[in-house]
Amino acid sequence: MTKDDIIALPNPHLRQKSRRVGVVTDEIKAVVQDMIDATIDWDRSRPHEVGVALAAVQIDKMFKIVVVRNNHEDKNDLTFTAFINPEIVKREGEVIEDFEGCLSVPDVYGKVARHGKVRVKALNLEGKPFRVTAEGFLARIFQHEIDHCNGIVFIDHIKDQPEAFFKINDEGKLEPLDYDSAVRDNSILWQ
Ligand SMILES: [Zn+2]
Repeated sequence: MTKDDIIALPNPHLRQKSRRVGVVTDEIKAVVQDMIDATIDWDRSRPHEVGVALAAVQIDKMFKIVVVRNNHEDKNDLTFTAFINPEIVKREGEVIEDFEGCLSVPDVYGKVARHGKVRVKALNLEGKPFRVTAEGFLARIFQHEIDHCNGIVFIDHIKDQPEAFFKINDEGKLEPLDYDSAVRDNSILWQ
């Protein structure tokens, strides 16, 4: 799969709940590989951004599956961990506002409030349960991706906040988007 297999708004699947995986079959493992391939291909096309994670819905597979890059600060690290049926079992720490973007919401960035620490449980590719504790940006990644499994896009959290929307310019810097023209009345973003 390539970046062209990644779906974007206004595709309505992005606002639908994915279903839980019963058994981790070869089909599920193939979906995981497709997700990783699509993310890496996207990453290669974007000089200023890193593809840090993806949910299966983003390649139009309605399963609760998330892949997260093992080192999200290094564009050269192409390894990922799969989280099948991921669930946040505890949210902790301060709520922090920071920037996030999404491969399915091209060119829009937002300042979103998220918990600073989360505990996540999931199944691995062998179908065995495991848990991780994530802090900081990694905690943000899990909250964003697990939202995708539940039909929530990051802009849904900030839809009434005119100062929360940004775009990335040619130098890779974030600059505010005009809320009235580019966000509020943009039918691509909202249904
Ligand atoms: Zn996303």
